[in-house]
Amino acid sequence: MTDFPTHARVVVIGGGVGGCSIAYHLALMGWREIVLVERSELTSGSTFHSAGLVGQLRTDVNLTKMIRYSVDLYRRLKDETGYDPNWREVGSLRLASSPERLEELKRQVALARSFGLPLELISTQDAQKLFPIMNPDGVCGAVYLPTDGYIDPSGVTQALATGAKNRGAKFLTNTRVQSIAIKNNRVQSVVTDQGAIETEIVVNAAGQWAGEIAKMVEIYLPIIPMAHLYLITRPIKDLPKNLPTMRDPDNLVYWREEVGGLIAGGYERQPAPTFLDGIPQDFNNKLLPPDWDRFAPLMDGLIKRTPIIEHAQVNMLLNGPEGFTPDAEFLLGPTTVKGFWVAAAFCAHGLASAGGIGKAMAEWIIEGHPEWNLWRLDLRRFGSNYSSQAYTLARTVETYAKYYDVHYPYEERESARPFRPRIIG
Ligand SMILES: Cc1cc2nc3c(=O)[nH]c(=O)nc-3n(C[C@H](O)[C@H](O)[C@H](O)COP(=O)(O)OP(=O)(O)OC[C@H]3O[C@@H](n4cnc5c(N)ncnc54)[C@H](O)[C@@H]3O)c2cc1C
Repeated sequence: MTDFPTHARVVVIGGGVGGCSIAYHLALMGWREIVLVERSELTSGSTFHSAGLVGQLRTDVNLTKMIRYSVDLYRRLKDETGYDPNWREVGSLRLASSPERLEELKRQVALARSFGLPLELISTQDAQKLFPIMNPDGVCGAVYLPTDGYIDPSGVTQALATGAKNRGAKFLTNTRVQSIAIKNNRVQSVVTDQGAIETEIVVNAAGQWAGEIAKMVEIYLPIIPMAHLYLITRPIKDLPKNLPTMRDPDNLVYWREEVGGLIAGGYERQPAPTFLDGIPQDFNNKLLPPDWDRFAPLMDGLIKRTPIIEHAQVNMLLNGPEGFTPDAEFLLGPTTVKGFWVAAAFCAHGLASAGGIGKAMAEWIIEGHPEWNLWRLDLRRFGSNYSSQAYTLARTVETYAKYYDVHYPYEERESARPFRPRIIG
């Protein structure tokens, strides 16, 4: 390869939305000699098949602030880079289809108000005005966030890559990382199938493949690829324009508009971990076969809340894998190998978070700490028990199956028990 860089200040591995955002923010903060390495094309991992919903509300103030930063960035990316990521600020609804959920939503409104997020508690009637195809039976109320929306996953990745390249970052596509050389527990170089790049800093942003990359430096990451399903309908006659996105967690489902039709998916109770013996080497720009049996309970929830979907023509049932962790939060931060950083396993909210992840990682690498307290995402939160794939798998499946549940303080896990039985007495 001509112009192959043999030296870099930092090498980012992975050309998904995460890696591109990290390269963009490192460049924005003034770093040069940034090289991003992608084994196939940009966005060809989990990013291209994302549903693109951007919801800011998380259960933690810092994580919410991180996604709020993403939204601020997505609004301005077109003007800044000249590449339109098709950000649609249509707002979002979250329904309470149970009294317990309504209580949770009221608490979230109080939390959101404490740091200025314009989340409003609204009546079922007002929710139905915003989302007229909704059947209001059993809805106790809702929250509405006018600044949420959705974005084109490939568009936002390309916009971030353009912003990084405009500031001098180099992007090497069709370049596969084969190994990482270490000396005295420090990163020395990244070896690719096109040549070696000397560097002291590597950021592993390889999504569901991040575990494979980490193994190159003998680090185990608790990541399980999980197959996530959503339906894409053909245009639906008379579907109202500019619908907000909507989530009905009690029925395990979410929706957004897509060129006059709907995208609708969810988190089923019987989730499907995948590729447990390794992800095929050529799994780029690929999907898993549709799984209608697994989608059936979600379809019931969708039809119950939006009966119009029962007779909509189906374009496809998309089944795509994504890296999940045992607590459905990311793996970010430094590792025990000096210079080896991780930003991966975005648990089906990586599109929403990518802007904030890029900023946090760039600050962490350059200044030593991110602006926000990200302990909830710091990979050091996992103990050595998570080096067992069986343990990690059991916990991850449980978390995915309960993703949309109301979670209470002191909630106990049921999976992977008894792990360490003790005889007392
Ligand atoms: C079906 C589905 C729906 C989703 N919907 C949403 C949503 O609505 N909202 C939301 O916020 N998120 C959503 N997500 C999640 C979001 O798409 C992901 O979190 C995000 O795209 C992950 O980005 P990434 O950069 O971490 O990984 P990826 O996009 O997977 O990028 C990692 C890259 O690393 C590269 N790589 C791997 N190994 C090597 C190697 N050895 N050398 C070089 N390169 C390598 C891969 O080729 C890949 O391109 C969804 C995910 C799925 C699967």
